[in-house]
Amino acid sequence: MVKRVDRRLFREAKKYLVGGVNSPVRSFNYVGTIPVLAEKGKSAYLWDYDNNKYIDYILGWGSLILGHSQPEVIKDLKKTLNSGLSFGLTNEKEIELAKILKNALPFIEKIRFTNSGTEAVMGALRLARGCTGREKIVKFENSYHGHADYLLAKAGSGLLTQGIPQSLGVPKDFTKYTIVAPFGNYEIIEKIFQKDGKNIAAIIIEPIGGNSGVVLPDFDFLKFLRQITRKYGTLFIFDEVITGFRFNFGSIFQQFAVTPDLVCLGKIIGGGLPIGAYGANNKIMSRLSPQGKVYQASTFSGNPLAMQAGISTLKILEKFKDNYVMLWSLADLLVSEIESKTIARKINLKINHFQNMFSFRFKEKKQFQKFYKFMLNEGILFAPSEFEANFLSFAHTEKDIMHTIKTAERAFDRL
Ligand SMILES: *Cc1c(COP(=O)(O)O)cnc(C)c1O
Repeated sequence: MVKRVDRRLFREAKKYLVGGVNSPVRSFNYVGTIPVLAEKGKSAYLWDYDNNKYIDYILGWGSLILGHSQPEVIKDLKKTLNSGLSFGLTNEKEIELAKILKNALPFIEKIRFTNSGTEAVMGALRLARGCTGREKIVKFENSYHGHADYLLAKAGSGLLTQGIPQSLGVPKDFTKYTIVAPFGNYEIIEKIFQKDGKNIAAIIIEPIGGNSGVVLPDFDFLKFLRQITRKYGTLFIFDEVITGFRFNFGSIFQQFAVTPDLVCLGKIIGGGLPIGAYGANNKIMSRLSPQGKVYQASTFSGNPLAMQAGISTLKILEKFKDNYVMLWSLADLLVSEIESKTIARKINLKINHFQNMFSFRFKEKKQFQKFYKFMLNEGILFAPSEFEANFLSFAHTEKDIMHTIKTAERAFDRL
């Protein structure tokens, strides 16, 4: 695969952007190769500036469930463009998208839109603190909830103590109210609540982990968290920025029969444009300004283009909501076939997989790098890290999947 233009552009990018990127994982540092620079995308495919074509499993980090440049979405966006780019005033499209979300996630009565998942999570946690009058929150190890200071925390020495900053630039005091717990550990949660329950505003969780490889859901653990949060008057927050509308038309809680108090959304609901949202019942949401005293605002929130991309995407999704099972079976095919090719060759690879989201974990990082580079060179674009999830879209065909499987088989022959 020739990479002349991409190479030149990336050298240029490094002169003006930190590491040549605007978000760390885009550097492809983990796989030790120059990154793919994206010139354009169409359905399940992406092209770099050298006109190399890739089957895309990154899909805007999970945002593009219909694939790139879905024609109806683009058509609607072009129409929206003609009415103006930004108002900073309420627009009918905000009502329309909120209605769609509310119908799809029945426990939500009111919604607040933001510009990113990070902002949605920050807003939801501030609201939880405002509602309960408490300061502490519980999050889980290896979960990702965006880049807010107090969420970039890892477990301190004693688990019942404050979290410690995971990034330079985060003051120790900023993570002092963040308790970091191991996922799935009942005993430690019990202890945390026995000691501190009355001071804990919220537990926030990715119901299915999508940011440290795919972490499978634990239904019993979610139920247990629901019970203990009820018992202590703590709010339970699902961060569904990745999982919302990914596995069904709405929230994963409909499959789990565990209802959170607050939900954070993002990615898919913006159809590829920057977005975030959080929602809850009227009682909780009425504490938010201008009705209540919890402040949160933004110049760009409810942007008409982002709203329209979300509306158009979700309308198409709703029409085809029975097809989620097909997406699931395509993913099953991909994962089981790739796994079966490793067995005969005694390659130690585990694919973590929940429905149409999957991640690779090789025994050695070097093997992943080799596998990754081979696949990339053959036009298969996976997430460039074992800790990032890969996705399927409704644009992927069985032919794409079969081609990916065959290419993986050739990669394994070379490992
Ligand atoms: C992507 C993501 C976020 C952050 O969203 P941004 O739009 O990148 O700010 C938060 N939580 C989860 C679970 C995510 O996957």
